[in-house]
Amino acid sequence: MERKRVLIVGGVAGGASCAARLRRLDEQAEIVVFDKGPYASFANCGLPYYVGDVISDEKRLLVATPELFRTRFNIEVRTEQEVTGIDRPSRQVEVKDLCTGRVYHEAYDALVLAPGATPVRPPLPGIDLSGIFTLRTIPDSRRIRAWIEETAARKAVIVGGGFIGLEMAENLARRGLGVSIVEMSDQVMPSLDREMAEYVCAHLIANRVPVHLGDAVACFEGVDGRVTSVVNRSGAALAADMVILSIGVKPETKLASDAELELGPRGGIRVDESMRTSDHRIWAVGDAVEVHDFITGEACVVPLAGPANRQGRIAADAICGRPARFRGVQATAVCGVFGLTVATTGITERRLVLAGNTDYYAVYLHPGSHAGYYPGAKPIHLKLIFRKSDGLVLGAQAVGEEGVERRIDVISLAIHRNSTVFDLEEAELCYAPQFGAAKDPVNLAGMVAANVVRGDVQLANWASLTGTDAFLVDVREEDEFKLGAIDGAINVPLSQLRRRVGELPRDREIWVTCGVGQRSYYAVRFLRQNGFAVRNLPGGYQTWRMWYPGGLATNPATSCIWLP
Ligand code: FAD
Repeated sequence: MERKRVLIVGGVAGGASCAARLRRLDEQAEIVVFDKGPYASFANCGLPYYVGDVISDEKRLLVATPELFRTRFNIEVRTEQEVTGIDRPSRQVEVKDLCTGRVYHEAYDALVLAPGATPVRPPLPGIDLSGIFTLRTIPDSRRIRAWIEETAARKAVIVGGGFIGLEMAENLARRGLGVSIVEMSDQVMPSLDREMAEYVCAHLIANRVPVHLGDAVACFEGVDGRVTSVVNRSGAALAADMVILSIGVKPETKLASDAELELGPRGGIRVDESMRTSDHRIWAVGDAVEVHDFITGEACVVPLAGPANRQGRIAADAICGRPARFRGVQATAVCGVFGLTVATTGITERRLVLAGNTDYYAVYLHPGSHAGYYPGAKPIHLKLIFRKSDGLVLGAQAVGEEGVERRIDVISLAIHRNSTVFDLEEAELCYAPQFGAAKDPVNLAGMVAANVVRGDVQLANWASLTGTDAFLVDVREEDEFKLGAIDGAINVPLSQLRRRVGELPRDREIWVTCGVGQRSYYAVRFLRQNGFAVRNLPGGYQTWRMWYPGGLATNPATSCIWLP
């Protein structure tokens, strides 16, 4: 059999997994991996924890060394070698040895591009001051650690409240720095819907991390070339001994576009389902590529390690002539911040609204992480989004201290298998008191949603609460109601509802609420069977607190600054 020569540009998540899979499939192939950095196959997801000294030995970030690739897999990994050009007609790449400056050429039968993405550095005044960092590589994390140690930095400003920004906030706080976050949009964690992100914001503030929402950096100021403050468009100036920019990444497409490979509408390298580019000898994987959204089918760029690894494997299969198909991304992700776990999969309500899609419902639940009678259960705030017409599961988001990622992983697989809320209702999940409940939060979410699809209960929409002329009834007990209630709601406890039903109007729609949505569901069923036009406000007062200012993060006791 002819010996194939496969060159791979980029030796981390996508590139390394492609190389290793190739070797398992083809013992004869010559495989050479180039990385312009000093390391290949390192754990970029671990970098924030190296900065925070949770991982204190840098070597632990190295998943596999070039030596291991050579001895275990007979794969040649060349670090500090930048691939600077692709000559498609002659099937060669141009490589620059970054140590010696030598330029040389290498021929390929198949070429895999896995160059990742570049952190965005906005061209703002002062951006070149020292002490302003992005985080992508081991040397980046080393520079940040050195800066903290050498300058005895006390105050850090994180620009961007996405998952890397939040992980950095936690890790810098862990090192004793005072940290604040500036975020241009009206929420942190853009992969969540705003009301779910409210929990995260409240939690950051509770951990003494002020969050400046709805504000953007105008410029950086410094003394003697070193950053001293971040000035926002609102005029607020935040003292800063260091700044972390975490405002997103751009697919690394220079090589591809110089070689006139097709790019997609989102700016990533265009690939087909087998990760093949517009050139049939060139594949591309990872953060650099544009793939399709599993749910909407739209083109998207989702920079996550799971898809990069899977795509590397698929490209290897395809190069070896195996049928392989990337099924799309659901953007399943998890992030830990100060003991809170935030996880998400599938589409958000915000994206559905933006797309003008109204064929969906969203329900909220706040179940315990395990059976209530066993000590230590923690609430999981869960939002499930599903199709109105048939109950197809479209997305889920969850926030809590325990058991969050397990529930989102189950729902992620449900989405992947095109399951419905009826499947979640029936899912058989493991249970013992310390781990879950006989009706697991995933089952409960399915049951609540299935009740809606079956027409047993109609939902009221939280977004329509302001301005509705519905009659609002809160069926919690009086002492609970006194502690706080939705403006305008009247209190008729469930235990008194049958006796006091005559107090409710028959000529107006009634919207019922309670603590977390369970008692209001009982009330809805009772009222409905008594001829009332009635809707349930999903998730009860707990959900209202996320939806409306004054609820969680914007509590006056906190220092969250929100500019509408
Ligand atoms: P990369 O892993 O970035 O590898 C690309 C490599 O290509 C780089 O080493 C680069 O030096 C090299 N390269 C680029 N151009 C050239 C060239 N011309 N010649 C030679 N070499 C080149 N994802 C998660 O799912 N969960 C997480 O918790 C998570 N945490 C993260 C935390 C941080 C701080 C960062 C930065 C990312 C995190 N990610 C996380 C994202 C995840 O790391 C990426 O999605 C994934 O690494 C992408 O893999 P990739 O192979 O496409 O690119």
